[in-house]
Amino acid sequence: MPAERPERLCVGCREKHPKAELLRIVRSPAGEISVDATGKSPGRGAYLCPRAECLRAARRHNGLAWSFKGRVAPAVYDALAEALRARAED
Ligand SMILES: [Zn+2]
Repeated sequence: MPAERPERLCVGCREKHPKAELLRIVRSPAGEISVDATGKSPGRGAYLCPRAECLRAARRHNGLAWSFKGRVAPAVYDALAEALRARAED
């Protein structure tokens, strides 16, 4: 039996992918939205494939607002772009 691999919906392509491969965005209990580098911050999470294509799609559809059911500042998408760049440099 393979180990359980939880899957989450990407807010860009809206397809399911293994959670471990996705970037997590979190809305804290205080309502602040940020990129969750640890993947363990408390709050409601949304997920994005670490691909520029998915980030573009998420921006276009405002996928995070869809996921969090509320307004999301453009700065959150900029932070995601940063996170993608940092990841690409690993
Ligand atoms: Zn995706």
